[in-house]
Amino acid sequence: MSDTTTFDFHCHTHCSDGALAPGDLIDLAVARNLQQLAITDHDTVAAYSRELIEYADRAGITLIVGCEISCVWERRSVHVVGLNMDLEHPTFTKAMTNQMKARERRAEQITQVLQRLGFSIELSQIEKIAKTGTIGRPHFAQYLVATHQVASFAAAFKQVLGSGKAGDIKAEWPSLATAVSWITDAGGVAVVAHPLKYKMTLTKLRRLLEDFKAAGGCGIEVVTGHQPPSQTRTLMDLANRFELTASAGSDFHSPGQPWAELGRASALPESSTPIWQLWS
Ligand code: AMP
Ligand code: MN
Ligand code: MN
Ligand code: MN
Repeated sequence: MSDTTTFDFHCHTHCSDGALAPGDLIDLAVARNLQQLAITDHDTVAAYSRELIEYADRAGITLIVGCEISCVWERRSVHVVGLNMDLEHPTFTKAMTNQMKARERRAEQITQVLQRLGFSIELSQIEKIAKTGTIGRPHFAQYLVATHQVASFAAAFKQVLGSGKAGDIKAEWPSLATAVSWITDAGGVAVVAHPLKYKMTLTKLRRLLEDFKAAGGCGIEVVTGHQPPSQTRTLMDLANRFELTASAGSDFHSPGQPWAELGRASALPESSTPIWQLWS
């Protein structure tokens, strides 16, 4: 196994919480010798303009439609990556509008929660940080760091924004089954994103995968970024057990994070069936 792959099916642009413009991400994908790329911004496909699709094509990159959808399973937030959807499918365009509005309402709610906790914060300040992208918790973290109200980005998540904390608002998200149906209705394949990041027990994770499969999901990220071989083995075992196809991506957000560098994710085991085989 080598540590380079020719595809990356999980990364972000400034249309959500990533740092790069979509065109710059394509340039980086070319520099990293990628052949296939899926941009998976949180709850939006705004990166997929006609210009970008043509730009990627001219650069020799096969651009797969992608999106990382926020949803809820047993009161926990879970991310489902959709790949290869029809961008114009009415179910999917409606779903994207739904998620955009949900994110707007959620941003207001997070602002109110932080104000109640005594932080000095206005939604307009967060909108400025997110620019034209959809607002996510990282933008709140960035603001709290910039205004010296928390010591670090990590501390912002640890204290108020991370899983189970007051700012982790998920009331607006659809169920896991709904998120999967949006993807499959639009002809795409649904993939459970970074299964080990939810810090569930293996028993619970197996239950999640059972429900995911019953809802029509067919893929699992066996590789997320640069990860230890033991994690790859655990995830490959789960993929085999639930007959899920293996996806891989970096979860790239911005340059300078070696554990999540575009095109530098650990390789999939040779015994796996890579997810792109489902559509090519
Ligand atoms: P949201 O989309 O608003 O739910 O925010 C989730 C995003 O926040 C993730 O995709 C990561 O980019 C980031 N994130 C989540 N947890 C952490 C953490 N503990 N430390 C740093 N970033 C995090
Ligand atoms: Mn993110
Ligand atoms: Mn995620
Ligand atoms: Mn992601």
